[in-house]
Amino acid sequence: MILIKKSYKIVIITFFALIFTVAFTFPIFFLPRNIKFTNIDIELRFNSDEAYTYVADQININLTSYRIPGTQGREECAEYFISKFQQIDSGFNFMLHNFTVLSVGCQNVLFKMNENISNILILGTHYDSRAKATKDSANPTLPVPGANDGASGSAVLIELAKALYQRKQDLSVQIWFLFFDAEDQGTDNAPGISGWDWCEGSNKFVQDIDHFYNSSEEIFDAMILLDMVGGTNLRFISEQYSTSSLLNELFETGQQLGFTSAFPSNPTVGTITDDHVPFINYGIPSADLIIKFWNAPSEWPYHHTTEDDLTHISNHSLEITGKTVEQFIYNNYYDIDNNPFQGNYPWSNDLNLLDTDILIIIILLISSVGIIVTISYLYLRLKKKNS
Ligand SMILES: [Zn+2]
Repeated sequence: MILIKKSYKIVIITFFALIFTVAFTFPIFFLPRNIKFTNIDIELRFNSDEAYTYVADQININLTSYRIPGTQGREECAEYFISKFQQIDSGFNFMLHNFTVLSVGCQNVLFKMNENISNILILGTHYDSRAKATKDSANPTLPVPGANDGASGSAVLIELAKALYQRKQDLSVQIWFLFFDAEDQGTDNAPGISGWDWCEGSNKFVQDIDHFYNSSEEIFDAMILLDMVGGTNLRFISEQYSTSSLLNELFETGQQLGFTSAFPSNPTVGTITDDHVPFINYGIPSADLIIKFWNAPSEWPYHHTTEDDLTHISNHSLEITGKTVEQFIYNNYYDIDNNPFQGNYPWSNDLNLLDTDILIIIILLISSVGIIVTISYLYLRLKKKNS
């Protein structure tokens, strides 16, 4: 009789212990995964009028073949970047990464700022334009001007270099401005350049990345990719290959600058194979700032058409992108005392939903096993005592 009473008590205690375990772990599902922060107060120097002229310059390099891989226009565009960076500083260090795709000579262009600092932030974009307007029902074999798809991200990178260079002594980070060739020649509605895949340039760059940094002394903090950032109706998506803590921090930074339509609180969700993916696979936290360019007649109907031209470029969209990235860099790396900023750095500690779920299951499993073992032990002890 005593045995039954005591074990009954244990069962009740165990039941409540289980309820408490579940009650305490369940809210983890609803915890915000990012720290709230406030942008540091600083004057932003990104000039969108200048950025707009850099888009126009790239379009005007060659009006028949634009910046298609293997053409003179592509080569002249690389030279254009070098001349723009040398206007900032005649000694601006750059490295050329030559590679071939099916025997066609291609070239990534890398500029480095603050090389004495071991932590590296990569700002990337592709600069090639698409050889065929495969989504243009009227002119599917004509080349794409690529005002947004190529030139916009490149223009923002040049202007960011100019703005950040003025404060480089106060920045505690090395910045890479990295322009990829051969991103945009794969197959969508119809084959692009036969035999070419997407993101050839960034894949080749990551394969050879050891040639571009000293792995025993330098480390990569993050990579931010800009792709189609200058079109009208700018609305960024929640890109799912991106490191979520990094992308979320960029969204929050932009929202706090007042750019709430470009960084909506409920963005479209999408998975885009883009130049950030090789860097993620290499282990660098990376985020893609990109728009919804598929099935988007009201947002961006010009993707891979001959209408991706200067008339659909918005000065304000360039400003939103440039200022958000500039602010993000000051938030994380501007060296002043009493910097109150607390972002998600280091973004590599990114617990995505799947990891969190697995963690919770493990916690529940361990507590359940512990409870079962305790009950069995107590039950056997009581049984022994009463026998
Ligand atoms: Zn494209």
